Amino acid sequence: MAEPEPPRSNVPPTTVGTPAEPVAALDAEALARHDTVLVICAHPDDVDFGAAGTVATLVAAGASVTYCMVTQGQAGSSDPHAKPADIAELRMAEQRAAAAEVGVSDVRFLDHSDGAVVASIELRSDLSRVIRQVRPGLVITQPTERNLERIYASHPDHLATAEAAMAAVYPDARNAHAHRGLLDDEGLEPWSVPEVWMMGLGTDLSPKVSVVIDTTDVIDRKVAALRAHQSQTAAMEDLDDMIRGWGAMTAAAAGLPEGRTAELFRRIDTR
Ligand SMILES: [Zn+2]
Repeated sequence: MAEPEPPRSNVPPTTVGTPAEPVAALDAEALARHDTVLVICAHPDDVDFGAAGTVATLVAAGASVTYCMVTQGQAGSSDPHAKPADIAELRMAEQRAAAAEVGVSDVRFLDHSDGAVVASIELRSDLSRVIRQVRPGLVITQPTERNLERIYASHPDHLATAEAAMAAVYPDARNAHAHRGLLDDEGLEPWSVPEVWMMGLGTDLSPKVSVVIDTTDVIDRKVAALRAHQSQTAAMEDLDDMIRGWGAMTAAAAGLPEGRTAELFRRIDTR
């Protein structure tokens, strides 16, 4: 069967590799430590390709999860005559529906331009605002590094979003003097995010895999979340098999038993 053309903004699977030291999937106790989580992504659907299984797992463990999308997905249409405002409205609705599939109701959209995201001081300020509002113990975002093995992982908006998210985590959100108006005008106190997980690791697994989430029990919900992005995934007839296949490949790469699916992240200590 031919592999479908990946959607413009999807996050690719982690290719099979053998970690030098397999990392055990996070157990319930470790998962339960993450009670307030903020996911920062460029586009509607990014979180669902890369981390919906993890989000469902964290929510099941008791976490409160907030999504912050930097754009409203207004460039995500193959119809050159579609109006950006209409595309954005549809894609935001799809993202809210997808979020509901994995237990997330707090979905926020910034209005940076889809296809033209820059890691600007304005975006850093916008993300610092959200961090100070949500006060997360964990931020999940996209990788700052370009994946040269599979360019779909490295949409420029993803790289810019990740760069700005990391700058917001350190130093901006924790420094009272950064984006002064956040404190002086909006009363938002500084907040230090202690930990970041980056999704979409590419092929170079071994030193980077530091978080493995076993998604086997929630893989149906990940597929349902992706199906909610009708405008992006309706044409992908084998979406179910593809997502399960990616999850199985990722689980195998991480050394999980056969029959399991997983998502992998790079953990960054940002205390
Ligand atoms: Zn994307």
